[in-house]
Amino acid sequence: NTTHFGYKTVESDQKVDMVASVFHSVAAKYDVMNDLMSMGIHRLWKRFTIDCSGVRQGHKVLDLAGGTGDLTAKFSRIVGDTGSVTLADINDSMLKVGRAKLRDRGIVGNVTYVQANAEELPFPDNHFDLITIAFGLRNVTDKDKALASMFRVLKPGGRLLVLEFSKPDSEALNKVYDFYSFNILPKMGELIADDGDSYQYLAESIRMHPNQDTLKGMMETVGFESVEYHNLTGGIVALHRGYKF
Ligand code: SAM
Repeated sequence: NTTHFGYKTVESDQKVDMVASVFHSVAAKYDVMNDLMSMGIHRLWKRFTIDCSGVRQGHKVLDLAGGTGDLTAKFSRIVGDTGSVTLADINDSMLKVGRAKLRDRGIVGNVTYVQANAEELPFPDNHFDLITIAFGLRNVTDKDKALASMFRVLKPGGRLLVLEFSKPDSEALNKVYDFYSFNILPKMGELIADDGDSYQYLAESIRMHPNQDTLKGMMETVGFESVEYHNLTGGIVALHRGYKF
């Protein structure tokens, strides 16, 4: 089966297996590859996410699909001893790398690590002040189910931030970016991480992800209000923000 983009469509259980094997495979080199492939720009995208988060001392934060914990590390410092950060991820290899990295940096005490699927979050209703999901939603099989699950565990007044690859806002940038994603990125993956297939999957998953307005509509459908997005780096990435009132 191929889509009109020529990508293979996969059944949902195959997608779960593929996502699991990709992240088991990239976990050890994830941080270095992230810096190389984005030329360090992912740090700015994450900084912007923190700036838009409204997070304060004492808040309860869920860093969903948190992987190796970049956002968790920043939130942990802001929420302090009276707050908490839960780093949840479906993949135990990513969680192990994240936990080891944060512990090495002395980030302990207010962080907990939970292996969980975004589609069925194992947390009580109305629990978190803030949920972030950075570069995670596109890997989730049932995105509507995951968004509904996030809505459920968010407190009234809380906000969701979705940082994700999106659709470049100019045709020229789209062409350059396509060339980079499908030619350079998998080769870098092959050369540096000896894992071209995983990086090919990552490039394809970016193209399959809903564009800015589609994702905004999906958030509104499950109940989020005042949903807005902000394009970063010409729309290569977008930050969506929505509230539960
Ligand atoms: N948030 C981190 C960051 O920005 O660096 C990690 C992003 S990494 C590209 C994507 C993460 O999503 C992986 O750690 C993967 O295991 C996780 N993931 C994929 N599917 C998931 C699901 N259904 N539920 C929770 N986490 C998931």
